[in-house]
Amino acid sequence: MSYRVYIESLGCPKNEVDGERIEDLLSQRGFKIVEDRNSADILVLNTCGFIQPAKEESIEKIFDLISLKNNDPTKKIVVCGCLVQRYPEELWSKLPEVDAFLGLGQIDKVDLICHSVLKGKRILKVCQPGEENGLKKIKRGAQSRPYAYIKIADGCDNHCSYCAIPLIRGRFRSKRMEDILEEASWLAEKGVKEINLVAQDTTMYGVDLYGEKRLPHLLFHLAQISKLKWIRLLYTHPAHFSDELIEQIASNPKVCKYVDLPLQHISDQILSRMNRKVTGKEVERLIFKLRKRIPDLTLRTSFIVGFPGEKKEYFKELLKFVEDVRFDKLGAFPYSREEGTEAYRFKGQVSSRVKQERMDQLMFTQQRIVLEKNQTMIGKTFTVLIDARSEEGNGYFLGRSQSEAPEVDGVILVKGAHLKIGEFVKVKIVDYSDYDLIGEKI
Ligand code: SF4
Repeated sequence: MSYRVYIESLGCPKNEVDGERIEDLLSQRGFKIVEDRNSADILVLNTCGFIQPAKEESIEKIFDLISLKNNDPTKKIVVCGCLVQRYPEELWSKLPEVDAFLGLGQIDKVDLICHSVLKGKRILKVCQPGEENGLKKIKRGAQSRPYAYIKIADGCDNHCSYCAIPLIRGRFRSKRMEDILEEASWLAEKGVKEINLVAQDTTMYGVDLYGEKRLPHLLFHLAQISKLKWIRLLYTHPAHFSDELIEQIASNPKVCKYVDLPLQHISDQILSRMNRKVTGKEVERLIFKLRKRIPDLTLRTSFIVGFPGEKKEYFKELLKFVEDVRFDKLGAFPYSREEGTEAYRFKGQVSSRVKQERMDQLMFTQQRIVLEKNQTMIGKTFTVLIDARSEEGNGYFLGRSQSEAPEVDGVILVKGAHLKIGEFVKVKIVDYSDYDLIGEKI
């Protein structure tokens, strides 16, 4: 009898890759993956435990599954991911309705765990962060989208003072290049046109395995995979960007002219308290170099507002920087005080009211910039990858050019008949709405 499993992943693309790994492992071991959780025998939730709002969302989802189980006690619940890795004992003792809790290093055993809970066992399996590589190669399953993520490394050694990731995912560990290339070839054979490279810090790829940064080499070799059309780089770190990497992004035709460069702040006082290992001047020089060498670059970044000790003048400095640089894509987060991190004990904690005021000011400034930039897009033509048909049944398709990363950026709504998912089409932009562009196939 093949048991039916419902899987839901929360959090970042790196966790999404772990969720796909669980799905691939279970389907390869005879479990049937189902979309409808009501029909499932086993409910698997892959949690996020990074910051407060993400933790609350994970807990809420667990209680959701518990109420399903209360209506049908034959169902089993398996909870895994970052929240479990961070709070194993608390979850185990406070949520007896959950049948198994799996830490990050244990997901390769998920099929065995599922068989055990079906026999009525209750299991807690968590090892030290990074103890289990978690980067072993596995065959990726069928792909329903024309884009996919590849996790090229896990863990982080940067120890930014506000960040709990090193506590959860352990030391920085690169995946072997041959395994990444094999995974990418496999995905391209499955019809994937675009791969997004993810890690906590992609710019440090290879330092642990090869004794030097090997991201430019990896990009070069990935581009040799003929069926792969786009390679997108996410989660770079300003302190680890090399000229060789800039050159590879600029000259490699398959590498999207898109850089995701989380900066977190620009004031030197805050950057050093965050332990970001970079100064405001160095950041400005890097952006200047990137834009000079890659003229049509799309630059994404993210900032934290309300970090302990963020005086008004430091925030003003950040606001001016955002106005001057005019990022193409920008995300911002209010500082989340996370136990176990260095900044948790810092003096000068900022009130939630002030954090929210600064968030609003920053996002209002960015929205104005995006609308001005969108205005200049009208009449321009782009190569667009068609991701899906719009669910609004309005005859539009959802697509992206090299300037839009999946799931985090706006999309291009494409009017056109008989477009196919995974097809590249030429699109002329005719309008925009908020963060999305609207275009017609030409
Ligand atoms: S680079 Fe900093 S913020 Fe990013 S995962 Fe590493 S420690 Fe956390």
